[in-house]
Amino acid sequence: MEYVDITADDTKEIILMATNACNLKCKYCYETNKNAPSMYLDRLMTQLEYEIRDNSTGFKRFVINFHGGEPFLAFEKIKSLVEWIKLRFSDLNITFTTTTNGTVLSNEIKEWLLDHKNEFIPILSLDGNKDIHDRNRGNSFDKIDRKFFSDNWPNQGIKMTVSPNTIGDMFNSFVYLHNIGFYPNPTLAREVDWDLDIHLPIYVEELKKLSRFYIEHPKVKPGQLLDLPLHKFSPEYVSKHFNSCGAGFNTIAFDIFGNRYPCQTFIADLKKGYDMSEMDRIFSILKKNHNLNVSPKCEDCSIINWCSPCYGINYSNRGNMGEFDSTMCVFNKVTLLCAAQMFSEIYSNLEKYPWINKEPSELFHSIKGIKHIFELANQSLL
Ligand code: SF4
Ligand code: SF4
Repeated sequence: MEYVDITADDTKEIILMATNACNLKCKYCYETNKNAPSMYLDRLMTQLEYEIRDNSTGFKRFVINFHGGEPFLAFEKIKSLVEWIKLRFSDLNITFTTTTNGTVLSNEIKEWLLDHKNEFIPILSLDGNKDIHDRNRGNSFDKIDRKFFSDNWPNQGIKMTVSPNTIGDMFNSFVYLHNIGFYPNPTLAREVDWDLDIHLPIYVEELKKLSRFYIEHPKVKPGQLLDLPLHKFSPEYVSKHFNSCGAGFNTIAFDIFGNRYPCQTFIADLKKGYDMSEMDRIFSILKKNHNLNVSPKCEDCSIINWCSPCYGINYSNRGNMGEFDSTMCVFNKVTLLCAAQMFSEIYSNLEKYPWINKEPSELFHSIKGIKHIFELANQSLL
């Protein structure tokens, strides 16, 4: 039975760099220009008119994502732009989101957020308990009104970044955040000093604890770290696309001046200015390679059906979208193997897990995918 991926990708995410300014100095932060000004609204409004009305054929939903720096340092402008977008595109399905460090929320901002609770979702960055969080994110833990977030957006996914500093606490952080009413979704910090000899064995142990937690708590749906599309590893899987990166298509970003990029990770040093011909070149490479693999190095990789090397981070850090950090390949492969092991246990007791997609074709191919992943591991191809 052939499995054809028919996932409809009809949501466009438009990322607006609200400001590059930030009041914290997180250890793994890749943003530069922290004293930069905030959005130039007139130019952005013109750009949004074009992007949404004239350049979004086939998209039914839009997510406007305010990025930073710390976006709420530009609260007045966010507020103005949200109200303008709501009026201007009242016929469209648009929601708003932002990721915030949570430390600059005045009463006025909180009231505004509550008034827009169902259309504007703030995602909190929180790395664990006070000790763990403060290790990476300055002494910011006590400045965050955590209850405001957990009371108003219960079980909201939060951004939990795991760094070499906190890798040994990944599982404890997860449990802590889970217990205070959040839905933590750990992700590994990129472009930091991972040392495979030191950090990989620790990561594997932490992953095992996390997958055991999910197996023993059937009502808790695994976060994206382990909830992987295993059906894509079924030998019969036929895909129109090899990876999920939507840069330049489902995702578009604008810097504070209204310059257009494939996603926020391409926004380079603002002091260098916007190189329009270079960005045209990038868009055209992404267009030619849409849903294909930009890096020749990935061509024979056993996990290319799932892995999505970040073109923007590669570009910003190494000047080449295909030039990835191979350390992350190793982390990706052990994550996949751990997910396959976790799901092999879960599938043997399917009825206990209400969140599992029980659509017969996906189930069938997920099981075949798990088998294939184990075969790859046995042949040392993982
Ligand atoms: S694991 Fe590495 S080589 Fe394989 S697809 Fe991902 S980035 Fe490419
Ligand atoms: S370039 Fe990176 S951050 Fe941007 S959409 Fe692709 S994977 Fe995501």
